[in-house]
Amino acid sequence: MIYNHPEFDRHHELHFHDDPTTGLKAIIAIHRAWDKPSMGGCRMRNYSNDESALRDVLRLSRGMSYKSVMAGLDFGGAKSVIIGAPKPAARGAVLASMANFLNRLGGRYITGIDVGVSADDVAFMSKHTKYTAGTGALPPEKMTAAGVYTALKASAKHRLRADSLNGLTISILGLGKVGFQLAEMALADGASVLGADINPATLNSAIELGVTPVSVDDAHKMPCDIFAPCALGGILNPMTIPELNCAIVAGAANNQFTNLDDAAELSGRNILYAPDYIANAGGLIVLAMEYNRQNEAWARAKVNALGDTLTMIFEQADAVDGNTGATAERIGAARIADMAQGSELAA
Ligand code: NAD
Repeated sequence: MIYNHPEFDRHHELHFHDDPTTGLKAIIAIHRAWDKPSMGGCRMRNYSNDESALRDVLRLSRGMSYKSVMAGLDFGGAKSVIIGAPKPAARGAVLASMANFLNRLGGRYITGIDVGVSADDVAFMSKHTKYTAGTGALPPEKMTAAGVYTALKASAKHRLRADSLNGLTISILGLGKVGFQLAEMALADGASVLGADINPATLNSAIELGVTPVSVDDAHKMPCDIFAPCALGGILNPMTIPELNCAIVAGAANNQFTNLDDAAELSGRNILYAPDYIANAGGLIVLAMEYNRQNEAWARAKVNALGDTLTMIFEQADAVDGNTGATAERIGAARIADMAQGSELAA
């Protein structure tokens, strides 16, 4: 039963779609719904089974609520997952079916890009539904990368007393849309950048940029100042944490921990962790910018403020036990409770 699912957090809505005509199987989870639509990207993956897709969408949608309130936004968190990547010839029909699924929710959920779903895919869906965002002039991943870069600098300032990334060594796992731009900015600052990616073409482009390649299995083990997870979640777990050789973990990937105990394990090892849903909020800020009819300057100010939020979390954690993950959870949960109080919709 869903109520007993370990990742169920009193989610407000959970919708399942199974379209025999196109083969689309998808889930939409709305973790919290306040007075505005709930927001979060659409992920497409070849999940090993339906249970791992359900677990992913429950965790990711919850993370979106925390991301929203920690970025000073008032959108509830939501996410959707498409189970299984279709063959190229069937992609259009599957995306159109997903758009119809969004229409059935009547605007309570607005989606955008995520892993496996490109800006072109979202633009295609937007021909069939009004409920997409993030295909305007400012690409969400650009602001996500800018936010992660801000997180690296705030973390380096706090832990290493460094005013810039110049001279630091940064190991990036995943050199896709966000990781690649992060590498560009870090290199421009004078950092040494190590990088790994499962896609050889992506890795080669990064090497041309000046990134030193390391293997996917070794990226988190490299002696460095900052390890930046920018591939998929779950990279910080009981097996990998003892292998870390860095002062800071700050990156773009959602759900970097398997659970919150891992955050305590990191702080116990004196590694500073920049909570993922704060560091990577730039993409959501772009969706909010579009919905609120704001401009890039508004989005940039919100992205820059992520650094101040992280510094506040670091200082509050230092005053207790150094556990930044637990501190962010506590503050995020309190802000979510406040949002529910102020909303006309029930908590
Ligand atoms: P992406 O798909 O463009 O890039 C991910 C990269 O990781 C790809 O190059 C892929 O080949 C690589 N990769 C996948 N599995 C890997 C593995 N096991 N080891 C090494 N490399 C691997 O995605 P992105 O948009 O750059 O996002 C990166 C992460 O940041 C994701 O976890 C995503 O959920 C998160 N995120 C992205 C945004 C955004 O605006 N794009 C916003 C918030 C969070």
